[in-house]
This record gives sequence, C-alpha cells and structure tokens, in this order.
Amino acid sequence: MVNLRADGGGPVSIVDADTGSLLGTMDSPQTHYQAHTGAIYVHQGESYVVEDLNEDDHCVVVRRANPDYYTTARDVTQIEVLETQRTTQWGDVAVHFGDVKVTTQVVSFQRKALISNEVLGEEPLQLGARDLFTKAVWFVMDNRSLTGAGLIEAQFPGALHAAEHAAIGLLPLVASSDRWDIGGVSTAIHADTGVPTIFVYDGHPGGAGFAERGYDKAKVWLAATRDAIKACECESGCPSCVQSPKCGNKNNPLDKDAAVTLIDVLLEDATDQMRTGQPDHAAPLQA
Ligand SMILES: [Zn+2]
Ligand SMILES: [Zn+2]
Repeated sequence: MVNLRADGGGPVSIVDADTGSLLGTMDSPQTHYQAHTGAIYVHQGESYVVEDLNEDDHCVVVRRANPDYYTTARDVTQIEVLETQRTTQWGDVAVHFGDVKVTTQVVSFQRKALISNEVLGEEPLQLGARDLFTKAVWFVMDNRSLTGAGLIEAQFPGALHAAEHAAIGLLPLVASSDRWDIGGVSTAIHADTGVPTIFVYDGHPGGAGFAERGYDKAKVWLAATRDAIKACECESGCPSCVQSPKCGNKNNPLDKDAAVTLIDVLLEDATDQMRTGQPDHAAPLQA
C-alpha cells in the first residue's frame, strides 16, 4: 500500500509555539502523515515535535526539540471500483482501467531511532478517513494461475505488495509521473474482484492520465518492472526495487522472488495492443 499527497483541503499553517512565527505550510492530506500530533517535523534542518494538529483552524502547532527518533505514519487504504471503462483479457489475467474511490485513514504512527531505525513504540491516532475519486489501472489474476506457477497462498500478499511497489516505481518509464503522484493497493482477496488484484491509481482527484498510460502500455511497463526487480542485487528487497519510501504498511509483507513469479504470470499471455472498451464477455468475478 502506498499513500499520497494530493486531494483537497487547502494549505495548513505550521506555527512555532515558542515564537508564534509561521514556519511554512503543508497540504491538508499530507498533515495526516507528517504533522499529526506527536510527529517530528523537520524545517530547514531544525526538528520540531508537533503538539497539535488543529484541522478546524488549518493550523499545526510545533515546538523546537532535539529528538533522537523520527516518526512514520501507518494507514489503512481501501479501494472501490466505481466504473470499469476498459478491459483487456490476457488469458486468465484481466487488465482494467476505470473510475475508483480510494479511502485512506492514517491510524497510527511509530517512533524510530534515528541511528538504528529500531522501533521505539507505536501510538494510535484519531484522524478522519479521506476519500479520493480518481482513475486506476488494475490487474486481476486467479489463484490457480499463481499456484500453478509455484506460489503458495501464504506468499500472495507479499508477492502482490512487492509487485505493486515496483510497478509504481517503474510507471515513470511509460508515463511522465513521479512516484509521489501515484498510489497503489494490492490485495489477495479484493472485495470487488474476489481474487488477487493490484491497483495503481492517480493521486490527483479525477485522475491525471498516469494510470491510463499504464493501461495503454501495460505489457512494456510490467516487463520493465519484472526486469528491474530481477536485476536488483539485493537479497530480499530494497528501496531500489520493491520497497517504497511512502508505504503506509511499513513495507510489510514484501516477497521479492515471488513478485517476479507473479509478474511472469501476468505477462504470460500479454499483448501490446490494449482494448479501448469493455470486453464482449464479462468474466464473472470482475467488478
Ligand atoms: Zn506498500
Ligand atoms: Zn533491491
């Protein structure tokens, strides 16, 4: 899972509690990740602890500090298919493009030691969920194709999640996005599809064309994603391949080798030509 900066709300002011001065502003959705109460906020090399995120007043109150830790937020993201506009069937794999609703809620944060990255503790947060109405490309596969390729079901979540992260990292190859413009959700049993599914969505309300480019160039994109994972010399996943700096799920689970197998399954019957409409026959499990 990967979270985003975009979507409404307007800028929020960041105010120094000691001096009353305005340190800067932040987009409202970003505050849930980086300026919730207890977060460490870094401004021009100086560290501050967030004392209060006041959403009614669009204000974050921070106080100068020298913590030996940093903070990372964890979120829960759900994605709902609203309308499928295009579908291409690659054998048992279906590639879709259409409208989705992404609901994200920041639920907790961790303190991590600056030097060792050791987790020092986790605290819950009470923040509202946010809805983003946007466009997505998604890949639907069936369990049998994955088990037929040698994966066991316990590997599915890590394979899907790792493939999702790597695919987001490689999308700029076919769309002029940067990875902060793109989000993703992967799930072994999605509510709308019932089967393993990877979603990659535009972080901008209404979509910005990135997911659509991903759909149009899906074969090239996925092949590049697989090759990048395979070529990475790390043992079990690193920031250059399957880890994401903005994962809302602590980069867990991730299974690098299983992700390569999974993408091979996706590409088995892949075609360069993608359909511009719905399929003639709707498969039963597709939303
Ligand atoms: Zn993730
Ligand atoms: Zn790596």
